[in-house]
Amino acid sequence: MEIGNTKNGSRASIDGSEGDNLIKVRAVISCPNNDYKKKFRNQFSRKEIEMMIVSFKVFDWLTCNKCGELLKLDLEFNI
Ligand SMILES: [Zn+2]
Repeated sequence: MEIGNTKNGSRASIDGSEGDNLIKVRAVISCPNNDYKKKFRNQFSRKEIEMMIVSFKVFDWLTCNKCGELLKLDLEFNI
């Protein structure tokens, strides 16, 4: 019984804070003409989410090197 309690206690402290506060993001940047595609993966803490949004705004005006079309940005959040 006592061993069980100790195990549960240490587990909780390991699983705690960090994992819960991270937001995983997958960004896919692609050209509508299908000649360019790039994937990024990143993770942010909840505190950094505003910074994250600002950094993704940069992609709004990116254009394809090959055909000049505006690139499409898809974000997938894993919260
Ligand atoms: Zn293109």
